[in-house]
Amino acid sequence: MKIGVLALQGAVREHIRHIELSGHEGVAIKRVEQLEDIDGLILPGGESTTLRRLMNLYGFKDALQQSSLPMFGTCAGLIVLAKDIVGEEGYLNKLDITVQRNSFGRQVDSFESELDIKGIAEDIEGVFIRAPHIESVRDNVDVLSTVGDKIVAVQEGKYLGVSFHPELTDDYRVTNYFIENIVRPAITEKV
Ligand code: GLN
Repeated sequence: MKIGVLALQGAVREHIRHIELSGHEGVAIKRVEQLEDIDGLILPGGESTTLRRLMNLYGFKDALQQSSLPMFGTCAGLIVLAKDIVGEEGYLNKLDITVQRNSFGRQVDSFESELDIKGIAEDIEGVFIRAPHIESVRDNVDVLSTVGDKIVAVQEGKYLGVSFHPELTDDYRVTNYFIENIVRPAITEKV
């Protein structure tokens, strides 16, 4: 399968590596026309205000709002997928959740935590960098993982979102889950 990584900002190469480790082709997406050529899209982390500005500039907001591609957002990518962002307007409105940005406090800018992620594994190393958390979810959203009382991974149909950076470790099981359990069934349904 061909999986795109939105390449406007963030850890694009690391995501492509995880796609390749999963046995598929990873493509850096810089123009909206390239969206026609892929089976699923990863939205990487970075800084979501900048990411939104670049997505507006290059036409990705409209294109992705209209797109039926399966999508996987990590960190800032999760923020842009959310329907509601605390204190700001939601952006792509794909995941029916409310996210809070930078929600683990200033003192703990970055930390790691071993995560139990439903349907994936009980021992995923989560790297959190000025991470958001998911404050609340609506009915059709499946909560996959929490840190304390904070939700850090969710799925709603063909949309997957996590607060952390799976691409910064060698463990590609979260990316592999997106490809095999979300993108593959979506393709089969289309055929
Ligand atoms: N703090 C960033 C934001 O709110 C997200 C950080 C990240 O993607 N690592 O956009």
